[in-house]
Amino acid sequence: MISVLEPATEQVLAEVPQAGVEETDAAVARALAAFPAWRAVAPGERAAQLRSLADALEERREELATLEARNAGKPIADARGEMAMVVDTFRYYAGAPERLLGETIPVPGGVDMTFREPLGVVGLIVPWNFPLTIASWKVAPALAAGNTVVLKPAELTPLTALELERIALAAGLAEGVVNVVAGPGRVAGQRLIEHPDVAKIAFTGSTEVGRGIAQGAAGTIKRVTLELGGKSANVVFADADLERAAAAAPLAVFGNAGQDCCARSRILVERSALDRFMAALEVAVEGLRVGDPLDESTQMGPLISAGQRESVAAYVDGDAPVAIRGSAPERPGFWFPPTVLCPVSNDDRAAREEIFGPVASVIPFVDEADAVRLANDTIYGLSGSIWTRDGAKALRVARALETGVLSVNSNTSVRVGTPFGGFKQSGVGRELGPHALDAYTEVKNVFYATE
Ligand code: NDP
Repeated sequence: MISVLEPATEQVLAEVPQAGVEETDAAVARALAAFPAWRAVAPGERAAQLRSLADALEERREELATLEARNAGKPIADARGEMAMVVDTFRYYAGAPERLLGETIPVPGGVDMTFREPLGVVGLIVPWNFPLTIASWKVAPALAAGNTVVLKPAELTPLTALELERIALAAGLAEGVVNVVAGPGRVAGQRLIEHPDVAKIAFTGSTEVGRGIAQGAAGTIKRVTLELGGKSANVVFADADLERAAAAAPLAVFGNAGQDCCARSRILVERSALDRFMAALEVAVEGLRVGDPLDESTQMGPLISAGQRESVAAYVDGDAPVAIRGSAPERPGFWFPPTVLCPVSNDDRAAREEIFGPVASVIPFVDEADAVRLANDTIYGLSGSIWTRDGAKALRVARALETGVLSVNSNTSVRVGTPFGGFKQSGVGRELGPHALDAYTEVKNVFYATE
C-alpha cells in the first residue's frame, strides 16, 4: 500500500494499493486490447466521448480541487483554477479528432497523401506538482489522436489520477482506454519505459530522470517527449513599470510554493533600478499569505514533502545573502517561508540549480546584452518574462532568449491553446495547443498510382 500524506498536516490522507511490475503489465495489456476499437471509433464519436469526459470532470470539479489541494498542499483557489484547466484541456482536444488533417503532395504518376496515425499504447509519467493538470495535458491529446494510455502518477500524489480513471469509465470511455498505475517510478515507471508494447513515453519531471528515460527508451526506439526542469529568468529593465513587475514577481516564483518548472526563480534586474525594485518586492513578498491550503485567502501552501523541504533549505544556509524573508506557519506541515536572495551571481549554486521551492535569486545586470547573456547562461530553457515599456527591445530580447515559452509584461505562459515546452535541457517536444498532437501521431505517407 502507498500511504498518501497531506503536506499541510503530515497526516495520512489515504492508503492506496501500490502497483508493481505485474499491475503495470496488466494495465499495458488492457490498453493494447482496447487500442483497435478506440482508434476505430469514428472521429465525431471520439470527440463526443471526450466532451462527455470533460463534462463529467466539470461536475466533479470542486471535489477534485479539494482532493488536489489537500494531497499536493496547494491553495484551494489555485487548485480550482487547475481543475478548470483540466476540463478546458479535454474540451479543447475534443475538437481534434475531426481536425487531424493530412496533406496531398504533388507528385508525378499518382496522388500522394499523408495521414496522422495513432501510435498505440502510450505511457504517461507525471510529477506531483500539478498532478491532474499535467496528466490532462498528456491524456487528452493522446486519446484524441486515437491512442490508449497508461498513466503513472507520482506516488506522492496519485489520488486525482485514480479518480480520472473511474470518471473516464463512468463517462462512457471503453474499459482499457484510460489506465492508471500508482506505483514507484523506479518500478512501474521503469517497466513502462522498457515495455515492448508501449510505443511512446511522455514524461514531466526532473531533468535527471528525463535523461534516464531517454536512455531507457532507446532500447525499443520509443518515441519520447520530455518536459523537464527550468531556471527561468524574469528580466526587469529599468524602463518597465517597476511597481507592476515587482508586485507580480513573487507569485511567478513562489506560486505552488516554487514547485513549478516555469518558476521565474532568477530575477534579473537592471542595476540602475535595483533599489526601487527591491523596495517594492519586499512589500509584495511580506504581503504573501502562506498557510492552510483550504483557506480561501491562502496564496502559498507547504512543500510537498519533508525531503523536498530539506533539499530547498540547503540553498539557504548561513552564508546565503537573504534579502527578504516572508512568513510561514510554525506547526506540523512541510512549511518554508518565501525567501529572496540578493545579490546573487549567476555562477552561484542558487542561480544554476532548479531549487523547486520558494527561493528566488535576484541577479543585477548592466544592459540589454548583459541581460540576454545572463538569462541564457543556464543548461535550462523553459520559460521566462521580459518587463519593459520599449516594445522593440521586448521583441529583440524575446528572440534572443533560448527558451520555449516567454511572456512580456506578464508572468503567465501556460495556456491550453498555445504550445508549451523547453529548449536545451528543459526538454524535447511540445505539449498543449495544436502542436501536442504531433507528439501523439506518426505521419504516414501513401502514394496511389493513377497511371
Ligand atoms: P522525478 O523526476 O523523480 O519524478 C517525476 C515522475 O517520474 C514521478 O512520477 C516519479 O515517480 C517518476 N520517476 C522517478 N524515477 C523514475 C524512473 N527511474 N523511471 C521512471 N519514472 C520515474 O521528480 P522528484 O519527484 O524526485 O522531484 C525531484 C526534483 O525534480 C524536484 O526537486 C524538481 O527539481 C524536479 N521536478 C521537476 C518537475 C517539473 O515539472 N519540471 C516536476 C517534479 C520534479 P515516483 O515519484 O512515484 O517515484
